[in-house]
Parts: sequence; C-alpha cells; structure tokens
Amino acid sequence: MQYFSFHTHSDFCDGKTSMEAVCEEAINKGIKSIGFSSHAPVPFETKWAMPFHKLEDYVSSTKKCKNKYKGKLEIFRSLEADYIAHNKSIPFDVWRRLAQLDYIIGSVHLVSNPEKENAIWFLDGPIENYEIGLNACFEGDIKKGVSQYYKQIQEMVTSQKPDVIAHMDKVIMNNKGRFFSEEDTWYQEILEETLQVIAKAGTIVEVNTRGIYRGKYHSFFPNKAIIERCIELNIPLTVSVDAHHPDELTCEFESAIKTIQQAGGMHVSVFTTDGWEQKAIDAVIS
Ligand SMILES: [Zn+2]
Ligand SMILES: [Zn+2]
Repeated sequence: MQYFSFHTHSDFCDGKTSMEAVCEEAINKGIKSIGFSSHAPVPFETKWAMPFHKLEDYVSSTKKCKNKYKGKLEIFRSLEADYIAHNKSIPFDVWRRLAQLDYIIGSVHLVSNPEKENAIWFLDGPIENYEIGLNACFEGDIKKGVSQYYKQIQEMVTSQKPDVIAHMDKVIMNNKGRFFSEEDTWYQEILEETLQVIAKAGTIVEVNTRGIYRGKYHSFFPNKAIIERCIELNIPLTVSVDAHHPDELTCEFESAIKTIQQAGGMHVSVFTTDGWEQKAIDAVIS
C-alpha cells in the first residue's frame, strides 16, 4: 500500500504529539508523503485550533522537518481552515500568504445563522452540544441548520477556493438518525446542489476515515452513496485519515481506497512537488 497523509494534526493544535514524532512514525509505517494541516486559528478561544501566535513557529517547524527527513519522507505544509460564514473567519488567502501553504483544506465545523448576529452551531465535539447549539442558533430547526451547513460549504468552495473539502457530510455524525433522515428529499436536494457546485469548481473531496476508527460513526465522511455521486460528477477524491496521533496515521486508509475503487473510482488525488496529481488506485494498492 502506497500510504499518504495529507490531512494530519500535531500538537500545534489538538493533535497529541510533536511534528517530529509524527514524521518518525510515518516513516515507520512506510508513508511516503505527509502534509501537516493544523486547525488554522479562529477569531475566538478554542481548545482545538492553533493559537495565532504559534503560526510562525508552525512554518519554521515544518521547514525543519522537511530538512531533517529529506529523502525519507516528503513533507508539505497545509492548514485545515474553518470557513465561518458572514465574515466570521479569516480569508483563506491570508493563510496562504502568511503560512506559505502548499495547499489548504477547507472545513465547516461552525455553522452561522444569517439572521442571527452571534449565533454559531458547532457540529463536532460531544453529541450533547449538537442539540444545544441547534436550539440556540436555529431554534431547533434542523432543516434550516443543515441547509445552512451545506450552503456555507458552497460559499466556502466558491469564495475561498480550498484545494480540499474536509469531511463534507459531517453534519450527520451527531445526528445519528435523531433529527432527520439522509433519505429526506430536502436533504438529498441540498446535497445534490452542493455536489454540483463542487464539481463546477473542481474541488477535491476527501474521504475522511476518522469517524470509523474513533467509533463515532459507521461510515466515512462522506458516505458511499456520495462517493459514488462524486465519481459520476468527475469530482476528484482523496483519502484523509485525519490523524491526531501518530498511531492513527494509516487507520482505515486501505478500506477507504477500496471503497472508492468499488464505487467505480480509478484515481485519487495526491499532492506532489508539482501540485495535485491523479494517481491510479492500482498504483496506490500495489
Ligand atoms: Zn475537521
Ligand atoms: Zn482534521
């Protein structure tokens, strides 16, 4: 298996170990190329995002690792940047420039309500907060909250132009079938509309394996039906393990590659010194 890891956390954000410890274990596991993607700073206090004052050190530490592991491991610098609608996040171009990024991963973990100034719905984290946030931000209106989630992904794609969209249907993780069904017509419609926007922009969709190996959800983000639709629409796909600890670096990687293959995909997007390239799945599996 030709492993890669383009969505990787370290202790610059909520990852558990240093970049060097990640690199050492990546080499042990036979990974050939890695991209660090700490959560970019957000304009409020969090436990999970990198504080702004660490950004310079983030840049120099990736440079240091690049030199130290030259010839053993290809290392790239990225960020997993939050897009928070209504001008509540820092434009991705600022990160591209300040951190001299090789590429950028765009995420929506925080949904903003266009009609409510300071309300934010945090989708990730403990399940209890999903309902609390939905009530506080969208008066418990799940259709409105989820529709805004996808609208804001669309906005992120067109206005910020990320290279990769992180875990694109993560809004289902803490739903667990409680508030809506993925079969609901309104859900299918907003999903399809979002995929059309992504296809037009040519943005890469990652198949994120973290929910499965953390026991938080039974499918990848996005799930198999969406992966199949991405392939039909010629949306490029990649696999992201989204490791927060070096032990996780290859978790469910093989299974995600095979899922893409079974869904009819022939290639995955991989980052190289020449930018994003399409790599044949047969070559990844060999
Ligand atoms: Zn994320
Ligand atoms: Zn992540």
